[in-house]
Amino acid sequence: METNCIFCKIADGEIPTDFVYENDTIAAFRDINPTAPEHILVIPKKHIENLNELNDREIMADLLFGVKEVCKKLNITDYRTVINTGKGAGQEVFHIHFHIIAGRPLKWPPG
Ligand code: 5GP
Ligand code: ZN
Repeated sequence: METNCIFCKIADGEIPTDFVYENDTIAAFRDINPTAPEHILVIPKKHIENLNELNDREIMADLLFGVKEVCKKLNITDYRTVINTGKGAGQEVFHIHFHIIAGRPLKWPPG
């Protein structure tokens, strides 16, 4: 638990949040500022700043399986997953998270 981290507070229940999925190690909830009809964030309950700081293979697997579980639960079959790593890549919250973006046509490259 990092005291100044908003996602730690969400994971800890300090900021009440509806989880779309949760298990022992991860939690998933809707993005407060969605960029698509479905925009969900998947986080580890443990504070890890970003992918550069993630060295635990179990948490890596938990996150990616978590993405699959969320999509299965919400019947999302077509989606984009994003991890922004570092300020220069648009990371704003320094507690690692997968974005799941879906519910509208997504072009590639994103531009
Ligand atoms: P990043 O830019 O770090 O990859 O993404 C951070 C995301 O977290 C943004 O899409 C932003 O809208 C979302 N976000 C920031 N603060 C909160 C919050 O308090 N609650 C929720 N549900 N989402 C948040
Ligand atoms: Zn945190």
